[in-house]
Amino acid sequence: MKNFMEDVVLEVLEEALETNPEFCRCEKCKQDVVLLALSKIKGSYASSPVGEIFARVGQSDRQVRTDALLAVMQALEQVAANPRHDGRSNLTEKR
Ligand SMILES: [Zn+2]
Repeated sequence: MKNFMEDVVLEVLEEALETNPEFCRCEKCKQDVVLLALSKIKGSYASSPVGEIFARVGQSDRQVRTDALLAVMQALEQVAANPRHDGRSNLTEKR
């Protein structure tokens, strides 16, 4: 289950980065976004049994992707507001 959501999150993240070029895309930030997004999704799916999630995936993959995109966008904003990358932070933050 977790691996499945991780795949969805990674896929959605790539799309989000393409449409939002201002976000940092170093490995550290991407990893943070994935972890944050996964924990958000886990929270919103916490009341559903695993079987229900699978049923939901089968019925409407689009809904799961929408949930994932929402979580990814929120996570991106959080990471962008407080990036944890150091050492090469001016890679994309040069102003
Ligand atoms: Zn970064």
